[in-house]
Amino acid sequence: MKRLTRFRLAALFAIVVLAGIGVTAQPNKYARDAKQPIDEEYTKKIKEYTTEPFFLSPLVNYLPASKTVPTPKAVLGDVAGAPGKLPYSAEVHAYMRLLEKASPGRVKVFSIGKSEEGREMIAVAIAAETVMAKMDDNRARLAKLADPRTIKLDDAEADRLVEASVPVYYITGAMHAPETGAPTALMELAYRLVVDDSPYIKAIRNNMITLITPVIETDGRDRQVDIYKWHLAHPDQTWPSLAYWGKYVAHDNNRDAMGATLALTRNVINTVVGQKIQVLHDLHESVPYLYDNTVGDGPYNAWVDPILTDEWQLLGWNNMSELTKFGMPGAFTHGTFDTWSPGYLMFIGAMHNGISRLYETFGNAGADTVERKLQPGDYARTWYKQNPPLPKVMWSQRNNNNYQQTGLLTALSYFSGNTKLFLKNFYLKSKRSVTKPTAEGPAAYVLPGDEARPGAQAEMLRVLQRQAVEISRATASFSVTMPAKKKPARRDADEGAAGKPAEEAPKAEAKKDEKPATETRQFPAGSYIIRMDQPYSRIADALLDHQYWSPNDPQKRPYDDTGWTFGELFNVQVVRVTDAKVLDVAMETIVDVKAVSGVVGTGTLFAVNNDADPSLIAFRYRIKDSAVDVTEEPFEAGGKKFNRGSFLIKNAAQADVQTFATELGLQAHALSAAPTVKTHAVKTPRIGYIHTWIGTQDEGWWRMEFDRLKIPYDYISTQVVAKENNLNARWDVLVFPPVGRSAQQIVSGMPMWRNPMPWKTTELTPNIGKIDSTDDMRPGLGLSGVANLESFVRKGGLLIVADDTTILANMFGMTPGLSVQESTRLKAPGTVMRARLVDAASPIAYGYGEGLSIYSAPGLIFGVSNTLGGRGGRGAAAGGPERPTGRGTADDQDQPQGVPVVTLPPEDPKVEAWQAAPVTPEQLRNPLNVIPPQLRPRVVLRYGDARDLLVSGLLENGNEIAQRPALVDVPLDKGHIVLFANNPMWRGETQGSYGFVFNAILNFDRLDAGRKLDEK
Ligand SMILES: [Zn+2]
Repeated sequence: MKRLTRFRLAALFAIVVLAGIGVTAQPNKYARDAKQPIDEEYTKKIKEYTTEPFFLSPLVNYLPASKTVPTPKAVLGDVAGAPGKLPYSAEVHAYMRLLEKASPGRVKVFSIGKSEEGREMIAVAIAAETVMAKMDDNRARLAKLADPRTIKLDDAEADRLVEASVPVYYITGAMHAPETGAPTALMELAYRLVVDDSPYIKAIRNNMITLITPVIETDGRDRQVDIYKWHLAHPDQTWPSLAYWGKYVAHDNNRDAMGATLALTRNVINTVVGQKIQVLHDLHESVPYLYDNTVGDGPYNAWVDPILTDEWQLLGWNNMSELTKFGMPGAFTHGTFDTWSPGYLMFIGAMHNGISRLYETFGNAGADTVERKLQPGDYARTWYKQNPPLPKVMWSQRNNNNYQQTGLLTALSYFSGNTKLFLKNFYLKSKRSVTKPTAEGPAAYVLPGDEARPGAQAEMLRVLQRQAVEISRATASFSVTMPAKKKPARRDADEGAAGKPAEEAPKAEAKKDEKPATETRQFPAGSYIIRMDQPYSRIADALLDHQYWSPNDPQKRPYDDTGWTFGELFNVQVVRVTDAKVLDVAMETIVDVKAVSGVVGTGTLFAVNNDADPSLIAFRYRIKDSAVDVTEEPFEAGGKKFNRGSFLIKNAAQADVQTFATELGLQAHALSAAPTVKTHAVKTPRIGYIHTWIGTQDEGWWRMEFDRLKIPYDYISTQVVAKENNLNARWDVLVFPPVGRSAQQIVSGMPMWRNPMPWKTTELTPNIGKIDSTDDMRPGLGLSGVANLESFVRKGGLLIVADDTTILANMFGMTPGLSVQESTRLKAPGTVMRARLVDAASPIAYGYGEGLSIYSAPGLIFGVSNTLGGRGGRGAAAGGPERPTGRGTADDQDQPQGVPVVTLPPEDPKVEAWQAAPVTPEQLRNPLNVIPPQLRPRVVLRYGDARDLLVSGLLENGNEIAQRPALVDVPLDKGHIVLFANNPMWRGETQGSYGFVFNAILNFDRLDAGRKLDEK
């Protein structure tokens, strides 16, 4: 038996105490209205498709009849959850509109936006006529509770508003395309809420507004339905897996609630904020039979209000207690899902002063009824799962729909009985967000007006605006009092390579004891201020603050990324200010954040500074007919300093430069004469962008950014690479983003046994095969593809790889002098780490300075060597060989007996972990394996030193990766391979690293610029 921790005992106590709250004792509270007839045929089908009586509840074991309102059968041709029935998003929406048409007083359907592929997303509001008629007035009251500044934080006024208002409970389904049950469950749930006259349902209808988005990922839903139909039409064949869910990402659409880069995320944020919802309850499928992760597990996110975490306990335990009393097995709420990351869609609710919830029910990824056998760990009884699921059952989509609806109805019922409590809490959470500066702080975050990367700064602020955060800008310079900088805590287990503290400790820390406790910090006019006395301060605080996850945390398996600090990952300065004086600074509200852009001055030569802004590459392609040089050294012109890699645009019309620079948030300086600085031309390389058929999600995050910036590329699969033996004829640069699979799988593809797996547009599958298509998804890159890639590089092409595609390039011998290993002890499950430039003269590093952080999860362990077969790096850096056993003390030299005394040759110079050991005369005697100097790996960027490696998140055994190369340029014959140890383009959160990828692309044929070659 596992030891009961204090936390668990406390949680156990919570079940006992909380489960009873809100359950008022009344006989037959679930009973239907005896006077209302039931739809006999529909009810019969419900029972027929439910595989065991205990997979039903009194709330869903019948369907009330209506003479006017159509049941889901009108669209499905059968009942919700029937075998073989999976509606497209448009069919689901059509049903909701039928419902609205039949009962306009109780239902309102409205559009909440479109997907990337143009499919509509809707929200359906349902309540009694009396409530719906005053929905706008109600929303106006909720808006005041949501922004307590509007009522001057007057609690008595808030109480009056609470008394007059009803809450909004927002349910979302079908976010994950292969989790197929929610749409039909929500169609039937909507029908019940509209039609059913039982006291139980009437109370919900009368006391609150239920808001439903039945399909979140509309693009993915339609593709999944296509696949299911293909499967039904080919019953004896294996069916293709869903290669694309959304246009860009698959499961990770539920990790976008920080960056808010996907249309579905933005549409839900707008709905949450616009409708002033109190709960966001998202439906998923995986765990048997209903895991309500509302209670979840620790650690909880450090920025949510404790009022919310108490609400999680109230709702979660009550909800599962109800299902348990119905005799439905497998309902539980505590579990291994930690609630740390705010990246989940439901967390939009938590971060906007509502309540986040998520159900995992049990789905079959389609509407087949099949036998499901569980693993012992799934059906085991634990302290929080006293009512476990069964080891083996026949499982149907109808069972799943029963659980989803029963869970939701009990949740809505509990909420409808406690509306004033939750509305008051909504107000209190909003108020406490506004009073943050004088309570826990900080008072504000300041983004200095003299930011070196104004484009990245503006982009990060736009992310915050998408989260409904208000942005202000100081109209005059100001100063605040700051705590003096502290020395970071020592982590003894996390020291330098040879067990010694790493060098390069920041100099400012040396005289720590002499520093005053506070210091004054000046900010120029134009500095951005994100005030924390605003209703949505919480999300800004969560994104901009640093995260720390203790290696000793009882939670040993973080569910997702542990660090995400946006200022670090966007490579822009963010200052956390606790001095409330900052709120009195003269400032204006900024609605449209834009970096100062356009053309300064007039002339025929335009200089654009390289600050590693991703927009630079977009600019190059926009102005494709002009000649552009980049400078290989920094220079000054017209009183302005320009970094290495700055653009000099030669034959462009000023109007074009003005248009594109303004569009992209860049500033161009017209110069009267060309600066005397070494330059080389940057062309508009032809980009081939490689994807596999086994995983398109990690590349999807890259592709999304290429599309956002309108960088032209050909989207090709590994099958094209396998067939095309002259890749150079078509492309200059091949980008091969991470796949999320092993290198072996990328090469081998899917198993070739059984039938082909087409991914094509057909009459049966109209929604697939549009992004890319193939007759058979199974073949992978193959050895011919590997050979073609190598030939491409050898003939002068640039190949960019990261993470698993880095392993692939290394595995097949394309990276002489670079060793690549996966970490064995390092624990960094999505961690922000410090990085340092090694070779600032490399074109890949153009525009970058010091102080950069990168995302790493956990990252590959690179070593470089000047010889083939050498591991290089740390092995040679460990302080030289220890002395052998022999005479004298540990520091003495041994002396063999009868041998003359010799003087030992001087020790080899210290080699750092990111460096290759110098070639020795021994190796040069016959330099067969010595890599010629111009072909040796060139390290551009490395991981920070062990003691300052951790920036945000969880890091354990960081010394395994500390100081190791993070980004290496390996010349191969006439071309180059640029290899990332990490993933530089991740979930729209790592914009600070994009510049490395884009610099490499632009300088693909001049990557050796600025290189200092070894002498031998
Ligand atoms: Zn899911």
